[in-house]
Amino acid sequence: MVDYLVVGLGLAGTSFCETLRRNNKTFVVFNDQSQTSSRVAGGLYNPIILKRFTLSWRADEQLLIAVEFYNQLEKFLNIQFDEKLSVLRKFASIEEQNLWFEAADKDRLKLYLDTHLVTNENPSLKIPFGFGKVLETGKLNTNILIDRYTEWLQQENCIHSETFDYDKLEIDTEYVTYSGIKARHIVFAEGFGLLRNPYFNYLPMQGSKGEYIIIEAKDLKESKIIKSSIFLIPLGNDLYKIGATYTRGQKDNATTEDAKNELLRKLDSLLDCSYTIVDQQAGVRPTIKDRRPLVGRHSKHNNLWVLNGFGSHGIMIGPWASKALYERIETQVPLLEEMDVERFIRT
Ligand SMILES: Cc1cc2nc3c(=O)[nH]c(=O)nc-3n(C[C@H](O)[C@H](O)[C@H](O)COP(=O)(O)OP(=O)(O)OC[C@H]3O[C@@H](n4cnc5c(N)ncnc54)[C@H](O)[C@@H]3O)c2cc1C
Repeated sequence: MVDYLVVGLGLAGTSFCETLRRNNKTFVVFNDQSQTSSRVAGGLYNPIILKRFTLSWRADEQLLIAVEFYNQLEKFLNIQFDEKLSVLRKFASIEEQNLWFEAADKDRLKLYLDTHLVTNENPSLKIPFGFGKVLETGKLNTNILIDRYTEWLQQENCIHSETFDYDKLEIDTEYVTYSGIKARHIVFAEGFGLLRNPYFNYLPMQGSKGEYIIIEAKDLKESKIIKSSIFLIPLGNDLYKIGATYTRGQKDNATTEDAKNELLRKLDSLLDCSYTIVDQQAGVRPTIKDRRPLVGRHSKHNNLWVLNGFGSHGIMIGPWASKALYERIETQVPLLEEMDVERFIRT
C-alpha cells in the first residue's frame, strides 16, 4: 500500500509529487507523452498581466511559494533550472509609459513594477518608446526540471512511463487499486488529457493551443526577456524562443504554418537583425471556462482527486495549488471556493 498514485508528470504532477516527498508520503506515478504543455512552456514566472499592468490572480501568494519551492528543488536535485531573468515590457507609446507609471504607484504593484524608464541600447531591437522593467521575474527550464525529476523517480522505482488505463482502476471506500498497486488516494494531473478521464471529464476544460518558434539570431545579443506583442526569451548560444500564440479551435500538439506566420509578423516589428528559424513547438494549455484552477475531490469517490486547470500560469500556480490540495487531503483545510471543483456541480 502506498499513500498516493499520481497520474501525469507535467508541472502539476511534479509539484504535487515533490510536496508528497517533502511530507514523507509514498507514491507511484504514471506518465505518458500525450501532452506537451509543460515541456514547450516558455517557463516564465511573472506576477503581472502585461497587457493591463495589473496583478494576475493571487500572484503575490503564488510567487512567494513558487520561488522558495523551486529553490529547494534545485538543491534537492542538485541542478540549476531557475534563471533570474528580467522581463522588459516594450512601450508602444507615451500613453503606455504613463499608464505604467500610474500602475507602479499603486501599493500592490510597487513591488513588481520598476519606476524607471529603461531606454533601449540594443541596435537589433526596434524600441522607440523604451521599456518598463518587471521585478521578481524569471524563467524555469521545464525540460531540465521534469527530466531530472523523472530520473530521480526512476532511481526510486516509483514511476511507470506508460498511459494510465482508467478502465483498470478499482475503487474501494478506503483505497484504490491499479495494476496491483494499492493506494490511499489517487491524484489526476493530466493537463488537457483530463478530457479522457471518465471521472473528471465533466469539468469545463477548454484548452488553448500555444505555439513557439525558436530562432537563431547571431547579432541580437540580448540577455533579457523582451515582451512586445510576443515574448522574446533568450535561451543561450544565440537561440531565442518567440511566442506564444493562443488558439481556441485546435486541440492537438501539431505545429502549424499559420502560427509560424503570425509569430514572424510580430517578430519583424520587433527585430532589426537577421535570423533563421531552427524549430517550432506546440502544446495545449489546460485552460478552464472561468480561468481558475481545477482542484479537489470527486463528488462520489472520497479518494479520487484532481489537480489541473493551470492555464497559462503553471509555473507559479503549481507549488501553491499542490500545497492547497495536499492540505485539503491530509488535514481537511478547505480549498478556496474559486478553485475547488465543487463549483461545477456534476449533472
Ligand atoms: C506554448 C505554451 C507556453 C506556455 N508558457 C508558459 C510560461 O511561460 N509560464 C507558465 O507559467 N506557463 C506557461 N504555459 C502554461 C503551462 O505550460 C501549463 O499551465 C502547465 O504546463 C500545465 O501543467 P500540467 O501538469 O497541468 O499539464 P501537462 O503539462 O499537460 O502535463 C500532463 C502530463 O500528464 C500526462 N498524461 C495525460 N494523460 C495521461 C494518462 N492517461 N496516463 C499517463 N499520463 C498522462 C501527459 O502526457 C503529461 O505528461 C505555457 C503553455 C503553452 C502551451
